[in-house]
Amino acid sequence: MLSNIPEYAPTTCLSLCKLSTSGSHKQLGGWPCLQAMETLTLHLILTLHPLYIYLCLLMYVESNLGNLPKSGKSVYFFWFINFSRIDSAMEGCKYSKRALALGFVLWVGFLLIFVSGAEGWSKEGHIMTCRIAQSLLKPDAAHVVKHLLPEYANGDLSSLCTWPDQIRHWYKYRWTSSLHFIDTPDNECSFDYARDCHDQHGQENMCVAGAIQNFTSQLLHYKEGTSDRRYNLTEALLFLSHFMGDIHQPMHCAFTSDEGGNTIELRWFRHKSNLHHVWDREIILTAAKDYYEKDMDLLLEDIEGNFTDGVWSDDTSSWRDCKDILSCPIKYATESIKIACKWGYKGVENGATLADDYFNSRMPIVMKRIAQGGVRLAMILNHVFSDDQEGFVSPT
Ligand SMILES: [Zn+2]
Repeated sequence: MLSNIPEYAPTTCLSLCKLSTSGSHKQLGGWPCLQAMETLTLHLILTLHPLYIYLCLLMYVESNLGNLPKSGKSVYFFWFINFSRIDSAMEGCKYSKRALALGFVLWVGFLLIFVSGAEGWSKEGHIMTCRIAQSLLKPDAAHVVKHLLPEYANGDLSSLCTWPDQIRHWYKYRWTSSLHFIDTPDNECSFDYARDCHDQHGQENMCVAGAIQNFTSQLLHYKEGTSDRRYNLTEALLFLSHFMGDIHQPMHCAFTSDEGGNTIELRWFRHKSNLHHVWDREIILTAAKDYYEKDMDLLLEDIEGNFTDGVWSDDTSSWRDCKDILSCPIKYATESIKIACKWGYKGVENGATLADDYFNSRMPIVMKRIAQGGVRLAMILNHVFSDDQEGFVSPT
């Protein structure tokens, strides 16, 4: 590469070249660094292009599946040459390399946020679930939750409830990605823990119901004062809070072949969407827009009013009912798959357009599931962090 360095650099780039070639790297000349910067800039600009994002996503998805068909290899190649070109051009250019590394990290971060944006209850659904739960905590439990939250959360659990979605593709947390959902056999409309709670490699307990059991048991150590060093109780709290939201999203406990409605493409009113996303986010956003002037606080107030002294006020004690911590998530997942069959999939085919009829009949269900997730998360946290036995017939 170095042998190809032109003898001069265009005048327009001289100052940049000087900047990046100061110090001991001066002898390498300015051109390769500038070329690298241009390639990097091009790369970043391309990142904004839908086709480029698509190619990167394709690569990402295929690498996640662990088998690389031909197309995957070519995408890898395409991706690789971009970076290898920059890297080789940067050879010996120490300072710019650091900038490049930072740019690369930011770029990957951007992609990951972009990719993970469509998974789980939407941000709004998780935030409401956690805000409902935190408002229902008994003083002891409220104290522990605040103690476990990192300082920058300012005592607000909801500010970190989407954290598990943000980190699920990080190398360190890849093992958590199957914990957000349950795939059940198509059209069975039932959840069987032994049959369905596993990841794609068949590893047992790797589903959202298993995750709730696992993180609840970890948090129980807090009260017993036997906290094991293997457990990070802050993370356990955030995972539990997030997964209590996910398990109540009906399309998170849905059919295997369509990936919980993700592959059922349709129109939500006028724009393109898919069935999973309709339940994750579209219904919530349409409700906020049509009835609450996009003010999520007003929407949340309405949900809370419904279970404190409104239409669901007689039901909340039965929502809390739970024989023991290990059996509760099974009940929640079973409710979800039943709702997915009765209300999610019903009358929906690939290419359908869903509008007022679907929205009006499903919106109350989405709101109720958010409320149930919040009330039940509070019940579990009250149980594990204080001596509260509400909802438990025979405590574990
Ligand atoms: Zn999730």
